[in-house]
Amino acid sequence: MSGVLTTGLSSDTFKDIFHGGASLSYDEAIDRAKQVVLNFLRQKQQPFSGVRPADLHTPFSEIDMDIPLDNYEELMKEVQRLYTDHAVAFHLPHYIAHLNCPVVIPALAAEVLISAINSSLDTWDQSAGGTLMEQRLISWTAEQLGFGTDADGVFTSGGTQSNLTGLLLARDHYARKRLGHSVKRSGNPPQAARFRVFASEKAHFSNLKNASLLGLGEQAIVEVGTDHRFRMDPEALQNALQREIQAGNIPIAIVATAGTTDFGNVDPLDEIGSIARQYGLWFHVDAAYGSCLLLTSLHRHMLNGIELADSVTIDYHKSFFQPISSSAVVVRDKRTLQIIKHHADYLNPEDQDYEEFPAQVNKSVSQTTRRFDALKLWFTLRLLGKEKLGDYIDTIIHTTRQAARIIEHDPELELLTRSDISVLLFRYIPDQRTTSDLCKLNEYIRKKTFSDGKALVAGTRVDGKFYLKFTLLNPITTEEDIRSILDILKGHGNSYKEEKKIPVSAGTSIQDYPGPGQVYTN
Ligand SMILES: *Cc1c(COP(=O)(O)O)cnc(C)c1O
Repeated sequence: MSGVLTTGLSSDTFKDIFHGGASLSYDEAIDRAKQVVLNFLRQKQQPFSGVRPADLHTPFSEIDMDIPLDNYEELMKEVQRLYTDHAVAFHLPHYIAHLNCPVVIPALAAEVLISAINSSLDTWDQSAGGTLMEQRLISWTAEQLGFGTDADGVFTSGGTQSNLTGLLLARDHYARKRLGHSVKRSGNPPQAARFRVFASEKAHFSNLKNASLLGLGEQAIVEVGTDHRFRMDPEALQNALQREIQAGNIPIAIVATAGTTDFGNVDPLDEIGSIARQYGLWFHVDAAYGSCLLLTSLHRHMLNGIELADSVTIDYHKSFFQPISSSAVVVRDKRTLQIIKHHADYLNPEDQDYEEFPAQVNKSVSQTTRRFDALKLWFTLRLLGKEKLGDYIDTIIHTTRQAARIIEHDPELELLTRSDISVLLFRYIPDQRTTSDLCKLNEYIRKKTFSDGKALVAGTRVDGKFYLKFTLLNPITTEEDIRSILDILKGHGNSYKEEKKIPVSAGTSIQDYPGPGQVYTN
């Protein structure tokens, strides 16, 4: 058949398939792509162009997906016009909006290998040494967490999936241990409607999504009150546990957050961990963001108690300067992962010796074919080392503290709270205004930064009040940058005063600018 198929095809028909005869076209394509990246680096002067979806409507409508372009040059021009010219530049010091870190160069070099060689990390026979590299990075991470040699884990697509794994293990563990029930085989037990998971009211929204995915419903998440810095209050946790037990509900797990998305604060892990022990509950720590503290000897103590966790979420793409995706879930006791093992005869048959031929698919809740993201972290740690990354984190924490001081000392600004890591919430309060006016003013500033693009900051609501939000993850951002960003924000604030004299409904006011969702939790 193949003879028939290839008849009449010229010798370079397969030049676009990655294989031994295509090294020239591979070289050219990568070179062209690299040029686009270099242009991006050289040309980007500000984090965002301010483009709106409607501005791109016409150029997109002109694309005919059924007619391919003639060459890479045309392709790259098109991609530049439709994408990179407007893409948000996380690497610029004036980008301090969400939890997007700049990435380290060795990880980018690893990406070249990852997609070309294209190993799949589900089984040994699709990855070979890749599986051992991933396992070695998991055990390195486990060591940093203070776990013993029984620890294990797997790379995932992100914190959301890592949290899903933690919650699934908590549910299935409880059902098996306490009810003698296999959720894997029989689905949720009738008692599952009363399962309760305790997380602070500032925990990540993925916990709600995951509870609903697991058939527990969002009702399963009990929001525990926080202290003055929005960290879970252990006393409120005790009260919540008692209240739920008295109401006839069944506590199964506690989720602590190490590094809240909106405040960068770390829940008191030691105390929460011992409460979890006291009640015999699964203890999951969402350290998607706070895992960066593992890197720094100066600040590692903030994670004390994390070693009590049964499972931990680590987002290397939030806090280890890794390109998306790179995340892991690590468990203290590898036997707990047995719950999710599923044997497929073609992939990981029951009778295979997994000591001899390891298969990470046995530990993955919702991925089979899986990228070799671990190679990026391998490149990073082997070339730069943990200490250098830790220095970056120390720098970020230091700059955040300076920024907090600048905001605190400015009578026109109001800082909501200090941060353990690198998030600051504050408002511009140029004069005596009502709360609702202040919200409007600060929302205006936030939208205006997005439409003008010189500096990107985020915004969020706390107790009904709108705050501007800095998330610092770039060690290159300096105190001077912070001052300049604050000047930009105030400048927008002052233009609001001007615009306010015009009725809001009139014409092109920024009030009409759709912008992204105001309350945004990355
Ligand atoms: C970002 C974040 C998540 C979700 O992680 P993704 O990688 O975006 O899926 C979970 N928890 C916290 C605290 C986060 O900040």
